[in-house]
Amino acid sequence: MVAEAQSDKPNQRIVLKLSGEILSNPSGYGIDRDALTRLVDEISALHEANAEIALVIGGGNIIRGETFSATGADRTTADYMGMLVTVVNALALQDALENKNIYTRVMSAIKMDEVCEGYIRRRAIRHLEKGRIVIFAAGTGNPFFTTDTAASLRAVEINADILCKATKVDGVYSDDPDTNPDAELYKKLSYDEALSQNLAVMDATAIVLCKEHTIPIRVFNMRAKGACKKIIEGDDIGTLISV
Ligand code: UDP
Repeated sequence: MVAEAQSDKPNQRIVLKLSGEILSNPSGYGIDRDALTRLVDEISALHEANAEIALVIGGGNIIRGETFSATGADRTTADYMGMLVTVVNALALQDALENKNIYTRVMSAIKMDEVCEGYIRRRAIRHLEKGRIVIFAAGTGNPFFTTDTAASLRAVEINADILCKATKVDGVYSDDPDTNPDAELYKKLSYDEALSQNLAVMDATAIVLCKEHTIPIRVFNMRAKGACKKIIEGDDIGTLISV
């Protein structure tokens, strides 16, 4: 049984979007114990810094609807498959966090009472206020969306101070830094710049939602040790997308 921490006055409510790949080994597939441990260490540092933390986990380490439908599957079915695997990832994350004595709740956008709670906005906020980490699973619950959009949607709904998008590179670049050594890292972008330049950050729906509700987005490298904690301490790491 995990001890439940009562938080003092938390300083920031943060939605952290994690792609499914962050849970996998270098092949990008499946759930890897070492990757899980590294991730939980980062999240636990954030938790110790007394932030209110909501996680949105993707499913790309197992299945992405668009990719799977390209092999011949019905797109809507493939998207439901994608949403279901985010629940698998959420449970792995919950288990690993609770092994570290961090109390968590998984809330799914698709009802599955035997497995986890259904998403209820007010209940999610209450969990956060009590210092529990909330893991939002099953995306928005609707096909043809992504977990990036789910992260923006939840960030708006729970009045988050910031949406942080964890990536494998240092932020938003003018081009792919893996293939173009001259790619420029942007420290700051407006929502409109991110949208009009079609930069590979998040899907447009996710950015538009944040823009309409003025939620800043910080894109950062999750592989850099201590990155999560630095963000809530106010360090200007990665790329900030805001007005
Ligand atoms: N998905 C969906 N609706 C949502 C969120 C996700 O249909 O609201 C499906 C979609 O097929 C997507 C898959 O779930 O490809 C996994 O999510 P995503 O691709 O966002 O995961 P990530 O790339 O972040 O690991």
